[in-house]
Amino acid sequence: MASNLELLSADVVPEYARGVKQEAREFAAEHIAPNAEEYFRTGEYPWDILEAGMDAGLIAQDISEEYGGRGLDIVEVLAIAEEFYRADAGIALTLQLASFGAEIMQEYGTEAQKEKFLRPVAENDQITGLAVSEPDIGSDLAGMTTTADKDGDEYVLNGEKYWIGNGVEADWVTVYAKTADTDDRYLNYSMFAVPTDAAGYDAEHIPEKMGMRASKQAHIVFDDCRVPEENLIGTEGGGFMMLADFFNHGRVVVGGHGLGLAAAALEEAWEFVHEREEFGRHVSDFQAVQHGLADMRLEFEAARALNYRAAKKVRDYENPGLWAAMAKTKSTEVAVENAQQGMQFHGGRSNLTDRRIARVYRDVRIPVIYEGANEIQRNLIYRQSGE
Ligand SMILES: Cc1cc2nc3c(=O)[nH]c(=O)nc-3n(C[C@H](O)[C@H](O)[C@H](O)COP(=O)(O)OP(=O)(O)OC[C@H]3O[C@@H](n4cnc5c(N)ncnc54)[C@H](O)[C@@H]3O)c2cc1C
Repeated sequence: MASNLELLSADVVPEYARGVKQEAREFAAEHIAPNAEEYFRTGEYPWDILEAGMDAGLIAQDISEEYGGRGLDIVEVLAIAEEFYRADAGIALTLQLASFGAEIMQEYGTEAQKEKFLRPVAENDQITGLAVSEPDIGSDLAGMTTTADKDGDEYVLNGEKYWIGNGVEADWVTVYAKTADTDDRYLNYSMFAVPTDAAGYDAEHIPEKMGMRASKQAHIVFDDCRVPEENLIGTEGGGFMMLADFFNHGRVVVGGHGLGLAAAALEEAWEFVHEREEFGRHVSDFQAVQHGLADMRLEFEAARALNYRAAKKVRDYENPGLWAAMAKTKSTEVAVENAQQGMQFHGGRSNLTDRRIARVYRDVRIPVIYEGANEIQRNLIYRQSGE
């Protein structure tokens, strides 16, 4: 039976976001999918695909038109994410990371900061990243130890960050650092724009990863790294709240990472069992297999409906933290389940590393962790459900 799945259909997507979704689909088919296996194998940074994405107007375009972007909203960014991640999660992460964290400056930065830092990212002359996680602390956002001490008209940063996307490749990064040590641990942090060529900024790639290998993360060491006080984003002590707000929005897009991966797993499993023959018939003729495929479809569609509902809630500021956490948790976990089932249906061939299903199986382990492990999401869902 020929596949007629139509898994990322436009019907659930609001009409205004369908145009950019179609652009992303065409770009993914031409530039991402055909190169996915190669970049996964080599683990190289896909500069050429990033540049093609810039030419196509699909990189860093959530930045407002005022500063050179297209002003794409959260629903449109979600629509791009699911298309990109279906084609390949590693390349997709690199493409979507190019402006990661810049939204914080857009929301809280001064006009001068936006002209200096934001415009070059929107105009695709620069790329950026967001540095929060540390070698010894990840989930506890109010426990980070990197410090930024005021010295005259400068801040001096000391400490380490780990897992930082584009920490080596970026022109500047948004850094989350401790500026006070008061009893209210949520008021101790601030955000800074830190150029990666600043003295005292040193970054190297973390060791090879098993998943999303076409994206690069860094271990950054700040050793008396000085930035002018003009690089403080928003108010001193406001960092935690800015970050929480940023993640409340962004996590709905991580749900899109899960949707793209879940769709890839289902497509791949479907195709395989409809071609593979055992016991004189196609594997897809066994009812147990059909039920497995049905469950993959069911869970995928349920997650996608929730994810788009959540995206609209987040866009409209209707309890965004709750909805983003639910979407992220559900969609990323459906991706894990679908990948697991897809592997089983591939039999021994699931173990061949050049198979798309094997790549998806490794990639799905990441969205259940980044932007807050799903246990943290469940904490948020429980707490915010009671409010
Ligand atoms: C590919 C990749 C890219 C990333 N990119 C970035 C980036 O660009 N910038 C950045 O700042 N970070 C980035 N991260 C880091 C990511 O956000 C962290 O890995 C994540 O927040 C979890 O932190 P941790 O790894 O230190 O795990 P830990 O916080 O040590 O947690 C380990 C595990 O303990 C359990 N756990 C922890 N706390 C609780 C709790 N309260 N309740 C129940 N269980 C709990 C969970 O099972 C969790 O998975 C990236 C990570 C990956 C893998």
